[in-house]
Amino acid sequence: MYPFTLERPATLADAVKLAAAGAKPLAGGQTLLASMKLRLSAPDQLADLAGIAELSGIRREGDALVIGAMARHLEVGNSAEVKSAFPALADLASRIGDRQVRAMGTLGGSLANNDPAACYPSAVLGSGATVVTDRREIAADDFFQGLFTTALDDGELITAVRFPLPQRAAYEKLRQKASHFPLVGVFVAQMANGVRVAVTGAGNGVFRHNGLEDALSQSFTPEAAAGVKIDSSELNTDLHASAAYRANLINVLTQRAVARAIG
Ligand SMILES: Cc1cc2nc3c(=O)[nH]c(=O)nc-3n(C[C@H](O)[C@H](O)[C@H](O)COP(=O)(O)OP(=O)(O)OC[C@H]3O[C@@H](n4cnc5c(N)ncnc54)[C@H](O)[C@@H]3O)c2cc1C
Repeated sequence: MYPFTLERPATLADAVKLAAAGAKPLAGGQTLLASMKLRLSAPDQLADLAGIAELSGIRREGDALVIGAMARHLEVGNSAEVKSAFPALADLASRIGDRQVRAMGTLGGSLANNDPAACYPSAVLGSGATVVTDRREIAADDFFQGLFTTALDDGELITAVRFPLPQRAAYEKLRQKASHFPLVGVFVAQMANGVRVAVTGAGNGVFRHNGLEDALSQSFTPEAAAGVKIDSSELNTDLHASAAYRANLINVLTQRAVARAIG
């Protein structure tokens, strides 16, 4: 590690000032500290968000669930409010990574990082959630912009995410044994205004699948998903799996997610 300074702002206003001056936000450190150790990131100053009350908490607001950026995966997975209002989200959070990652990792950190195989982006995009920052609200459809890239401007902080509640939803993934990240994950949600399907782990970043959404809007059944051909031409091939294998996984995991959502 090389020298850097660590600030511990107590309020969102102080964190915003630090971030505007160039400090790098530190959430649970699950990605950031590892990337600093590897010299992939070299901030001069970190702003630890852990002590900021405005970034914590989980609350119901009408037909939506609002979750603070610093909510840890463990907290979301164990929350009675989330389990009752949006069980698929609690289930997703409770299956992220391993025990340490769930104890430290945060919703805001996961979304700002936008790893192409992360679980949370699929729930945010798959439910049509809104990312709330210190300066604006960003629709999920506009937030994720490909490999480790988001709509956040320099110094902009995620403060919370507002999730509309689905009628039915489920998340299925095939977990990589070594990293615990999904090889492919699919989040399916039947919302008041139609079905949304978001895929993670298969491409450059999380994406919606129009063919699956159309088929499931006609008939919300595993059979409808099974009939959709998944084009592999823009999917990833790496040492873990070919694009064709990932395409097949998208189809199979969607069928499983729909079966689970139906119950
Ligand atoms: C071994 C391992 C296994 C994992 N498995 C999974 C998995 O199965 N599924 C999955 O989804 N994820 C997985 N993760 C990722 C994990 O869930 C974390 O969410 C992710 O590493 C980000 O960590 P963090 O929340 O601690 O954020 P940090 O590492 O602290 O920050 C990450 C980035 O986000 C920025 N940032 C943090 N908070 C904010 C904010 N509020 N506003 C703006 N920018 C911010 C930071 O500056 C940094 O650039 C895994 C991680 C590890 C190490």
